[in-house]
Amino acid sequence: MKVLVAVKRVVDYNIKVRIKPDGSDVDINGVNMGVNPFDENAIEAALRLKEQGIATEIVAVSLGTSANQDVLRHALAMGADRAILVESDLTLQALGVAKLLKAVVLREQPQLIILGKQAIDDDAGQTGQMLAALLNYPQATFASAIQVDGNTISVTREVDGGTETLALNLPAVVTADLRLNEPRFVKLPNLMMARKKPIETIDAAEFAVNAEPRLKLIKVSEPSARKAGIKVGSVSELLSKLREHQGIKL
Ligand code: AMP
Repeated sequence: MKVLVAVKRVVDYNIKVRIKPDGSDVDINGVNMGVNPFDENAIEAALRLKEQGIATEIVAVSLGTSANQDVLRHALAMGADRAILVESDLTLQALGVAKLLKAVVLREQPQLIILGKQAIDDDAGQTGQMLAALLNYPQATFASAIQVDGNTISVTREVDGGTETLALNLPAVVTADLRLNEPRFVKLPNLMMARKKPIETIDAAEFAVNAEPRLKLIKVSEPSARKAGIKVGSVSELLSKLREHQGIKL
């Protein structure tokens, strides 16, 4: 079974992002970038399916500029077999990405497509759902456990107040939640080896889909600053402060 994994290049999750002075966007100039954390869970899930003898080939796909080669190399270092870069200078949004991924899926014919549940840069959380709709494939989002059994996959999802388990016919689209697994650590020798592996590059224009942005980003602003906290010396002082400031009857 071939598994396709979508890997987005985003600002490193450890970094506190800056906003451009004109508020037009987040400033990513000179900022450390890396694999979207949920996509690492997606890669890990695919690797475990391969280790179970279920997946035979794992193909990592990233859409963006040639800079995205670094996240594909990370996927290769984790253990992906092949990497495809769909190159585009457009500002890619969820629908554009979903249309381009659909074109890759039609070409590669994977049985399972795993994406992250959301990208931590724009928090859209839409691409997997849009891709499944465009392909008319079944989908299971926010997966915290998966199990492939012949031609079906059972997916446990995190929902309000608990979990639910769905059975989907393959081919299907699954989006990964953090609880799905703990992604393996990439060892340096594997990173070095991944540098030598080829990355297939496809010009997005070849797919002849309209991936132009459909949403306009109007303004980005900092969250409002939190007021400084205070330290209290005793429980009775705490209670009196709460009475005073919050109007709480205690
Ligand atoms: P989003 O809908 O933007 O929150 O992204 C959800 C998931 O879609 C991500 O976790 C990735 O797996 C995939 N995705 C989004 N954008 C890209 C991209 N440019 N390249 C590869 N995968 C992407």
